[in-house]
Amino acid sequence: MSAKDKFIHFTTTWICNFRCEYCSVGHNDPKKLARKIPYYHAPDEVVNGVIAQMQTGEYSEILLSGGEPTIHPRILDIAEAAGKAGMIVQITTNFSQSNDLFRKIENLCELNLGVSLHLSQIDIEAYIKKMVDFHKGKQKRTKFYSTVVITNHEFDTCVKIKERLSKHGITLHLRAMMEGGKIYGKYHQRILDYAKKNHINLNPSGMFAMPTMGKRCTAGKNSIKITNAGDVYRCVCRSMPGGKLGSLKSFKKNDEPEPCTVSTCNCSIYNMRGAILD
Ligand code: SF4
Ligand code: SF4
Repeated sequence: MSAKDKFIHFTTTWICNFRCEYCSVGHNDPKKLARKIPYYHAPDEVVNGVIAQMQTGEYSEILLSGGEPTIHPRILDIAEAAGKAGMIVQITTNFSQSNDLFRKIENLCELNLGVSLHLSQIDIEAYIKKMVDFHKGKQKRTKFYSTVVITNHEFDTCVKIKERLSKHGITLHLRAMMEGGKIYGKYHQRILDYAKKNHINLNPSGMFAMPTMGKRCTAGKNSIKITNAGDVYRCVCRSMPGGKLGSLKSFKKNDEPEPCTVSTCNCSIYNMRGAILD
């Protein structure tokens, strides 16, 4: 198995079927959405280009994100290609698609399925039932877990969901909102006390909190970020000077780990996979 930092990160689509009020993509704000990102499913030529990259044997994992990645019409083609290439598929999903679809995906490849719970958008009881059903019948090799970003007013609900899922062997990670590189300062003290008492790290990846400017990072050498438009970047931070490597038709990866050129890393996956070296 290759190193944990050898992966493709692919945005299959920026379209999402949820409308979370805090969405950084801006699904509740069409003007913001139109300014920031191309709002469509990756077309066939991009999906085929991603599959060609998967076939190079350079990567051990493909991470699918969005929008909601599982509503892409070719999600099963991607899973199948990953299975054939021996790659793990990591999906971060709002879990709105049927369990039947998730079963098909896990039958095609080794699947790490991370469910993001967006409480304002879901029927909590129905979700718990659906998650328990999936967990009960899942393949042994499938990893299945969930995360929720806590707020003051929903904290008690989050803890109750966590306890109920835990009885069925499903982990719910409680995560903090971040503000200026720190855990949101207006959390009630009892939330911070709960985290401390239960040894819960609310920001385990150091996302937004760790200075990264000048640190050597393997992103762009060992991993690539591919957008739904087929552009290839060093990592998710598309504003990074020198971060664009080209397009799927023609791109050049870094030969060595290069210094990061932004002040903080805004994505958890890189530090968690050991990409930040210094
Ligand atoms: S599920 Fe994610 S992408 Fe979709 S609206 Fe909510 S936060 Fe945005
Ligand atoms: S530290 Fe984060 S933002 Fe900087 S290059 Fe690495 S992945 Fe990109």
